[in-house]
Amino acid sequence: MKSRRALDSIAREISACQLCPLAGSRTKAVPGEGPGSAMMMLVGEAPGRDEDLSGRPFVGRGGKLLSAALETIGSSRKEMFITNVVKCRPPRNRVPLKLERNACMKAHLAREMEAVGPNVIVLLGRTASASILGVTTLKESRGKLVHSEGRTYLPTYHPAAILRNPRLKETFQRDLRAALAASKR
Ligand code: URA
Repeated sequence: MKSRRALDSIAREISACQLCPLAGSRTKAVPGEGPGSAMMMLVGEAPGRDEDLSGRPFVGRGGKLLSAALETIGSSRKEMFITNVVKCRPPRNRVPLKLERNACMKAHLAREMEAVGPNVIVLLGRTASASILGVTTLKESRGKLVHSEGRTYLPTYHPAAILRNPRLKETFQRDLRAALAASKR
């Protein structure tokens, strides 16, 4: 209950946030979504067009793929806390700049992590993995549990990468399954 109140207050701050230039071009800011008691958290890069319009994370094509993958491994989106490194859509979906990422992570993502306190945090794609763990490529860290500053992470592909290359889907599902198992330990 305490974490729900904290998350609601963080979401209100995100919706009104003016900390970086992305505030000027967004339609809606997109706070993280899900139960405060979630054992697993998923972190993407940034909202896309559908998310910017709806104010909810991962509701477009990538989100549908992610939800289906979670069902395939016997879980559900409803059990997860789903969020992004930055909460506002960058113009033309460009990769968020370091200044935008740092401002947003410090003000919002770090507090979402603190409020939920998940057992495992899945980093979806290179931007999330690089921003949070400093890895430069997914090659070495993908699919492995990484312990850093008291938290456990598992970097994997971004759903958009699976849409571009469906052959990655099985590996993606295997990674999610490993993260889910670790989150229940
Ligand atoms: N891609 C992301 O990284 N996050 C979303 O919320 C949607 C698409």
